[in-house]
Amino acid sequence: MFDVAPKGINHMSFFRTASVRALQSALVSSVCLASSAFAQDLRGTPAPVFLTSEDAHWGYSQTVSPERWGELPGNAICAAGLDQSPIALVTSMAERGHHEAPNFNYRTSRVRMTNNGHTVQFTYDAGSTIQVDGNTYHLAQFHFHTPSEHTKDGVEYPLEVHLVHTDANGTPALVVGVLIKEGFVHPALFTAFRNLPKHAGEHSQPIGAVINASSLLPLNRAFFKYAGSLTTPPCTEGLQWYVMKNPIEMSDSQIASFQRLPYLNPNNRPLQPLNGRVVSTKHGF
Ligand SMILES: [Zn+2]
Repeated sequence: MFDVAPKGINHMSFFRTASVRALQSALVSSVCLASSAFAQDLRGTPAPVFLTSEDAHWGYSQTVSPERWGELPGNAICAAGLDQSPIALVTSMAERGHHEAPNFNYRTSRVRMTNNGHTVQFTYDAGSTIQVDGNTYHLAQFHFHTPSEHTKDGVEYPLEVHLVHTDANGTPALVVGVLIKEGFVHPALFTAFRNLPKHAGEHSQPIGAVINASSLLPLNRAFFKYAGSLTTPPCTEGLQWYVMKNPIEMSDSQIASFQRLPYLNPNNRPLQPLNGRVVSTKHGF
């Protein structure tokens, strides 16, 4: 469950020549990166990084801000979509549903982090799934936003983690969102958050470090459920969102270590209109 103390830390830049390095600084300064630059992990095996060439120029406070993502090629749904995420979650407005609770089957994974210029993505080892409504979804990666993207009853949290699950075709299909508040240190993230990859295009894989994503779930698994989208370009719709009602805790220094990363604070998309969608809830189990 818990991290093993690292014997070393591997940071790797994929920009080696002087000319490319100059290009890198220009790109990083505007939070523009080609996805191919970090399509491999440290062991040389392909890492599933959900990026396309179209996402090279979008950002948050720099470059093309969220209000204009829809103007970028291939991203029209960001502006025109009616089922966009994130949304404001309001307990009193949510319908009590009789949903089947997701069955979490998370195994321990190596800690493999990539700073993709938009977040730090933890690529998860294969073999961890969620089962719900007769379907199985595979945990592919989790990543963080600061401040939180969803709000709960009007409250914005300092961090939110998204656990991204894919369907049998490898397409993102179900996301579990967990709000994070300031509190006790999160032991399972201790080593990872001391070794976050600082700059876009960097990887970090603390030797021996492992994590079980179950540690990112609150003990009480009451949730909000709604139909939404990716919160980043291309803002694809048709995703099932399960946002946990109860936050987990991280220490102020852990939260600060993410918020200090260049260009990633903020990295939250503004709230999107509900457009008549129904948000339902299920009590804890
Ligand atoms: Zn996200």
